[in-house]
Amino acid sequence: MNYVVLDLEWNQPDKSELVNPDLPFEIVEVGAILLNEDRQVIGEFTQIVKPVVYSEMNRITGKLIQLHTKELKYGKSFTETMKDFFEWCGENYIFCTWGTQDLTELQRNMKYHGMPPLATRPFPYLDVQKLFSIAFEEERKVRRSLEYAVDYLHIEQDIPFHRAFSDAYYTAKVMGEIKEVFVFENYSYDVFHVPTRREDEVNVLFHDYAKYISREFEDKTAAMQDREVISTRCYLCKKNLRKKIRWFAANPKHFYSISVCDKHGLMKGKIRLKKSENGIYVVKTQKFISQEEADEIIAKRDHIRELRREKRKAGTGNKK
Ligand SMILES: [Zn+2]
Repeated sequence: MNYVVLDLEWNQPDKSELVNPDLPFEIVEVGAILLNEDRQVIGEFTQIVKPVVYSEMNRITGKLIQLHTKELKYGKSFTETMKDFFEWCGENYIFCTWGTQDLTELQRNMKYHGMPPLATRPFPYLDVQKLFSIAFEEERKVRRSLEYAVDYLHIEQDIPFHRAFSDAYYTAKVMGEIKEVFVFENYSYDVFHVPTRREDEVNVLFHDYAKYISREFEDKTAAMQDREVISTRCYLCKKNLRKKIRWFAANPKHFYSISVCDKHGLMKGKIRLKKSENGIYVVKTQKFISQEEADEIIAKRDHIRELRREKRKAGTGNKK
């Protein structure tokens, strides 16, 4: 499988009242590097896109990315650019981007231009910013800038940053510095198209946890009543597990549970509620944990209960 390392530059109006809600960011440049499965460069793509919504380059963005209004006039149309781009991508590839925003904006722009969707359900891609943290940082949640990663890895800075092609070029270079193959197994899911049907839901197994992306629900109540959402099935032996700690809300958007598998031990469940266009969806992760980690979750639940109790008491006190 090949890697399409993609970076986009987009434009927005100088004044916020001029924002078109259907297209808050209009793509003005596409840059990409094609890598083979050994992560060697086998192709390059760069194209300026002629905007149709915001034809004046935003002053701040224009300075940052060194792209000016007069250059945009010589760009290709978005649909033509995309036709060339997907032809160039070929078959059998996975997208790689620095961060999570590029594929969202790409799909929003495609939708705006009435193009057929990239996918109708979530699809895997590699967030190289995340891979960098997994490979070189203590904390996988740390988010570094591309410049930071390039400095950190002593990658030669032979072309200026902040243009689509150069950022794709440096992102590909960072990928080249990641030697451990397992890092590339940490793919992310693009959820521009949240599943609408149960059969399009995502169930995926990583080396030490399982992830589930639900279909879209009307609201939180509907989601938290769904059997699949709240199920706690061992992702290794597929048995339904008894719960040691029932689902509890750590905050309005996050829920935790602990279940017990006789064979595999204590399993933590975490539910995150996410907003989608027409409602909400759920990302549930399940992971085996130690007794200490379980104790921490139990302490968290007890602390939340205690706070609630105190609040209730204070509430009745006020009424007197
Ligand atoms: Zn099990």
